[in-house]
Amino acid sequence: MITKEAAYKKAFENINQSLKEKQAKREIMLNAAYKSNARLSEIDRELAVIGAKLAVDALAYGADTVEKARDKSEALAAEKKLLLKKAQVPEITYNCDICKDSGRVSGKICECVKREAAAVIAEALSREMPLESCRFDNFDLSYYPDATDEKNQNPRRRMTSILNLCRDYVSTFNPQTSKNLLFTGDSGLGKTHLTLSIVSGVIEKGYLPIYGSAENLFSAVEAERFSGEGRGNYDALLNCDLLVIDDLGAEHATAFTKSVLYNFINTRILTGKPTVINTNLTMKQLEERYTPRVSSRLIGNYEGHRFIGRDIRQQKSLECSG
Ligand SMILES: [Zn+2]
Repeated sequence: MITKEAAYKKAFENINQSLKEKQAKREIMLNAAYKSNARLSEIDRELAVIGAKLAVDALAYGADTVEKARDKSEALAAEKKLLLKKAQVPEITYNCDICKDSGRVSGKICECVKREAAAVIAEALSREMPLESCRFDNFDLSYYPDATDEKNQNPRRRMTSILNLCRDYVSTFNPQTSKNLLFTGDSGLGKTHLTLSIVSGVIEKGYLPIYGSAENLFSAVEAERFSGEGRGNYDALLNCDLLVIDDLGAEHATAFTKSVLYNFINTRILTGKPTVINTNLTMKQLEERYTPRVSSRLIGNYEGHRFIGRDIRQQKSLECSG
């Protein structure tokens, strides 16, 4: 996983790198232009002389003289610009005109950094996750039987409504007001696919979600705790715009992971930040595995949706094998 802090750091580096490359390229062309055309240095000298005179003694000159000097220096600047253009010296074009690629505007982080950080997170995620292949539009409802089962449930209908719910979740996503979701159901029913689609959609909207399996998220926190490296991962998980914990219950549960889980869930409820959890466990199994305070938070503060149908991975592998 990549934390919000690490993503911002990388985003600043990327923006800085791109500017440095442009400056270095310009520098090389500029040096070549000065070498091949002595007039450029001459113009610089003339400009310096006019500038120095005006700066030192502007009051001593009449308005007319000042005006003339200004005209002269403008003409010189224009000549220089033309010569540089002829020598194909590139002007620096900024990716972001607001912060001139510095990443900051009056001490605040510029929007372009936020966009770049979101791209960094998306890239890091897609390295670990099939983010590209999991989208709402390739979620295939035909794998869910359109038939009412013995419990009077129709998987196709249920999953259609869950798919719509997830789409709405993204289109109305707000890191302060969006609800918490708890997706339950057996493995192979598309929970990961739909939550990754949510993650993609939220990233596209410019927010910073963190997605990880319970196993990976807990080990990231555990590793930093024992290495004494501070609590960057832990804080990132508490503070990110959307936290998605996949496959809760598959991790190696210890007293430590249980208390971390409770802190994630509880703190994010208190600060109003949304969390989405996938689990193959039933409510009863969750209660048995974790503490009652965890399950009571889940029941009281999460909207539960049970995925039903037949294992899609199995169906796909049957199709592939003939
Ligand atoms: Zn900017």
